[in-house]
Amino acid sequence: MKILSIDTSCDETAAAVTDNDAILSNITFSQILMHEKFGGVVPDIARRNHEERIDGVVEKALKSARTKIEDIDAIAVTFGPGLAIALGVGINKAKELAKLYKKPLIPVNHMEGHTYACFAKNSKGNPERDILFPALVLLVSGAHTELVYMKKHNSYEVLGKTRDDAAGEALDKAARIILNEHIYPGGSVIERLALKGDENFLALPIPMKQSKDLDFSYSGIKTALLYAVQEMGDKERSTHMADLAASFQKSVFTSIAIKVRAALDQYKICSVLVGGGVGANEYLRNIVRIEAKKHKTPVYFPYTKKLYGDNAAMIGVAAFYKGLDAQAKDFETVQRSARAELH
Ligand code: ZN
Repeated sequence: MKILSIDTSCDETAAAVTDNDAILSNITFSQILMHEKFGGVVPDIARRNHEERIDGVVEKALKSARTKIEDIDAIAVTFGPGLAIALGVGINKAKELAKLYKKPLIPVNHMEGHTYACFAKNSKGNPERDILFPALVLLVSGAHTELVYMKKHNSYEVLGKTRDDAAGEALDKAARIILNEHIYPGGSVIERLALKGDENFLALPIPMKQSKDLDFSYSGIKTALLYAVQEMGDKERSTHMADLAASFQKSVFTSIAIKVRAALDQYKICSVLVGGGVGANEYLRNIVRIEAKKHKTPVYFPYTKKLYGDNAAMIGVAAFYKGLDAQAKDFETVQRSARAELH
């Protein structure tokens, strides 16, 4: 089943062509440079950029997959969660193409896409994976931090999620505090700095360590970091940037490890899946590998870096697993849903 998929949920204009779970093309136009100077994503700028780029990105996805739109079996699109006015651009384009070429339209939840990034294969069908259910899915990005119980394909139960900031958002904010600059995104800066730092330099609390549930919370340690940095003064801050980054990263990811461990203790889990942009962080991946190994549970990550961040191929793969049964009966029923939940 060949699917043309579109995702415009945040600041990446993305289109892809997939054939079952194999990726034929995966085109992403990143708007990071346009939002960088504002220190975050500006919704209006995102919408305008999506509108300007969407046709070109779709065309490029088809071209690099050497596929004509007539040969596509279905069109898939992210309906949420995300920035409402950004989502709208992708949905309108998908509806327009589905109508024009008389193709089924499959709406996909963006977080479902991040989950299915672990099932995606390259055009030659590699890597071969036999992912067993039930699976525990850890989704970590700039907007989400959640643990999901996946009993089988297309069946989700959110076990825990962040009560305030997402892990990626906390890392972005920490980067601004540590570097004293309006940088965006900051997660990769923290990871790079932390490599040279002492993670025991600053004793930050481990969020939600004692809570009995599987929820997360990151606004408290962000404030703790801010106070610590203010107390240090500028000179000490600038000499200890690597140490601060390492200490912050340790606190954020240890809290994730604790919740992954608790979920593995509480549920019978046959595989662990990790999705979302923060999943690209090597420290996080290691800490999850360690927990999974203790439980003798295999852990799966997307096979290539590009599949961690926002992209459309993950939406196409999720749509394939949903199948044509999930197509919208009437295109008009497909609406953006900024706060869509997995269920
Ligand atoms: Zn995402």
